[in-house]
Amino acid sequence: MKLVKSKIEVRAEIARLKSAGARVGLVPTMGYFHEGHLSLMRISRRQADYTVVSLFVNPIQFAPGEDLEGYPRDPERDLDLARKEGVDLLFAPDKKEVYAPNASTFIEETSVSKGLCGQSRPDHFRGVTTVLTKLFNIVTPDLAVFGRKDIQQLMVIRRMVRDLDFPVEIVAGPTVREPDGLALSSRNLYLSKEERRRAPDLYRGLQAAARALAEPGAELAGVLESARREIERNTGGQVEYISAVDNDMAEVKQASDCSYLAAALQLGSTRLIDNVDVNTGDLSN
Ligand code: AMP
Repeated sequence: MKLVKSKIEVRAEIARLKSAGARVGLVPTMGYFHEGHLSLMRISRRQADYTVVSLFVNPIQFAPGEDLEGYPRDPERDLDLARKEGVDLLFAPDKKEVYAPNASTFIEETSVSKGLCGQSRPDHFRGVTTVLTKLFNIVTPDLAVFGRKDIQQLMVIRRMVRDLDFPVEIVAGPTVREPDGLALSSRNLYLSKEERRRAPDLYRGLQAAARALAEPGAELAGVLESARREIERNTGGQVEYISAVDNDMAEVKQASDCSYLAAALQLGSTRLIDNVDVNTGDLSN
């Protein structure tokens, strides 16, 4: 596996591969790898000839006061795990390599990104779409793999790629969970022992709500309200939102229009998000 820190080197390597006809896959990450990240690398390895993983804690998707400084990092371990997964190139640029000091151009999706997490993190998705535009321009992948764990992010990216004609196929990987149901996340590290014990009740609450919605005559607002109460009671946290949304992440009023139930939970100092796909009945999503 090549470890590359410069854009120019990435471009040169990809140009060489593409001239040989290779199909390139990209897995964008912020590092501190867990099974969720590794599962996306495996998907890319299956679908592409050459897999690039980017490791960059993108400062512009964090608001002041969020966890940019404290975001978990372990580059040595990440290197080792990516190598073991058969990744071909790990692109780990530093901040200076990615952003010019006077960078002043942003890419903004203005619809899918506005609800759910966009309410409390108004500049977050603009940071995500801007860095991905840059990564797509640097790596020029044929496909890029994202996790369903971050369902709104996935749908924002799909919208951006469609609207701006990026020549990249967006591939979605299922949410990888702990045996007790908690979705893997680098941020789970922040949880105290007691919070960790109670955290799976976010997913359990979403699953219970999805089951309740499938009942004939289910009343959406009531189901969401009781799920909110249950999740708060069982986790001791505060539900930031629990919403029924369509594929464009717009809130729906009728159970029959719902594609996903999505929620964000503040548990102590940790913000957790999760979602279930109610259409496929694949509640493990
Ligand atoms: P991050 O490093 O948190 O920015 O995540 C990088 C990629 O991994 C994103 O596409 C996430 O959606 C995906 N991801 C994070 N957690 C999981 C998980 N538990 N299962 C599947 N994919 C995940």
